[in-house]
Amino acid sequence: MRYAAFILLVGMFVIAGCTATQKGATVGAAAGAGLGAIIGHQSGHGGQGALIGAGAGALGGALIADAVDKKNESVTKFCPQCGIRFDDPKMTYCPYDGGELKPVEDKASSVPSQQTTK
Ligand SMILES: [Zn+2]
Repeated sequence: MRYAAFILLVGMFVIAGCTATQKGATVGAAAGAGLGAIIGHQSGHGGQGALIGAGAGALGGALIADAVDKKNESVTKFCPQCGIRFDDPKMTYCPYDGGELKPVEDKASSVPSQQTTK
């Protein structure tokens, strides 16, 4: 069990200053390692269980974080000609009138905008 605690501790340090994906992977690895160590400990292979748990946890955590990451990064665009909004970042032109889509910058409506006063 000390091994799992150590991995959790290392994970805490690594988390600082990472992207959401890396964070998710780290959290997943730490959680997986802890779980794996418990499972492994009970079957007599603590280290092995922790490693397997860390791998599975990292993969799952990265997938979850990646999905969250993409959701946050989804660019809302709008057509300046007809004003229709599109959430698909791959779209470049309006399918209705061919107008070039522009990114919408008013996401601050939900998040208070922090203006750098200078
Ligand atoms: Zn349009």
